[in-house]
Amino acid sequence: MDDPLSASGLRRREVAVPNPTSDADGGSPSASPRRSGRFSEVVEQLERAGSSVKETLERAQDQASETWKAAKKRYHLMDFHEMPAYLQDNEFIRHYYRGEMPLKHAALSLFKVHNETLNIWTHFLGFLLFVALTIYTWRTLPLPRPSLPHIPSFVDLLHLRQHFPTISHALEMADLPHLRSLLTTMGDGVSATLEDFAVAAQALLAGKGVGVPQLVVTRWPFFVFLAGAMTCLLSSATCHLLACHSHRTSAIIWRFDYCGIAVMVATSFFPPVYYSFLCDPLWRYMYLIGISVIGLCCIAVSLIPTFQTAKWRTFRASMFAGMGMAGIIPCLHKLAVLPHESVVWKTTRLEAAMGALYLIGALFYSTRIPERWKPGTFDIAGSSHQIFHLFVLAAAYLHYNTGLIYLDWRDKTGCPP
Ligand SMILES: [Zn+2]
Repeated sequence: MDDPLSASGLRRREVAVPNPTSDADGGSPSASPRRSGRFSEVVEQLERAGSSVKETLERAQDQASETWKAAKKRYHLMDFHEMPAYLQDNEFIRHYYRGEMPLKHAALSLFKVHNETLNIWTHFLGFLLFVALTIYTWRTLPLPRPSLPHIPSFVDLLHLRQHFPTISHALEMADLPHLRSLLTTMGDGVSATLEDFAVAAQALLAGKGVGVPQLVVTRWPFFVFLAGAMTCLLSSATCHLLACHSHRTSAIIWRFDYCGIAVMVATSFFPPVYYSFLCDPLWRYMYLIGISVIGLCCIAVSLIPTFQTAKWRTFRASMFAGMGMAGIIPCLHKLAVLPHESVVWKTTRLEAAMGALYLIGALFYSTRIPERWKPGTFDIAGSSHQIFHLFVLAAAYLHYNTGLIYLDWRDKTGCPP
């Protein structure tokens, strides 16, 4: 910073030079020393002002550094080199670490700014998004009605109509309460629920032909995936939030983060495998059992304490990426057996895009780009782990939409007889 005093010193020297304007003004030569005296006063005032500005700036600087120290103390924020070894995961993130703190403080740090804030919120908001998607899906998708496959055929219905004039009359009059009581007294004659039966009967009588509500495939594989995604996102957010509590908590809690990832990757297989091989139970269950076993193995490996250390970072990324890549096998199989289905190609393209998102995310995770290029710059925002989280979220959301395409396809086509 320039010293204001030197500037005023320069002016003081300039004062000694006779001022040409004094003659031009017609003033007497004796006026020059008086003016020179006034200039000296001005210069002294400037000097005083300069030194007071300097003092003010120094005070502000001291105050800022005091505030930072107080904030560090208050919010337990620390620099990388001050952290215990078990919390030194990424040496390119230099500041804004939370030191060890009680669980309650760690939980409340959800609302504070530190270098884990965005890691927590990216996945916590992702978890809330998937909760909302699950509720929305549950409420809006037509749910399967298992009784429908057992509804009496229309031949049976006509048969009933011929043989039971009273039922026939009730059907024609669409007198549902009467129909209900009649069918109830018939006992075993009807295996469908009365509601289903009545809907079908009404549609038939209205001349709408096959009026049976649309048969839909089972939804459980889709909800398994949604549950897996929610498990992963919530456990990740919780781990990032609470891991700074203590060495012991950190050692235990990160295992759940890796378990969560394994659960999400494994459950992501369920909708594509189940609906692609809906009509081929052998392959369907072989793939589902296979990926479940691989998922359990990954969970088991994730529980090994050594696996948590920084030197296993690349192995971790590769293991989860490899697990995801295993999805190529059922995908190619699907293309081989159903090449004529346009929806199969469409879902394959979306699955490839999802795989690419996961892989790019894993690349950021393992290389720690961009913070390795400019350590300390991305401490709060823009670090590799935050980018990795966003890619995971985008991939999961894309998979949700792909799952809806599968459901729509199988609801319409089912399995050929
Ligand atoms: Zn994370």
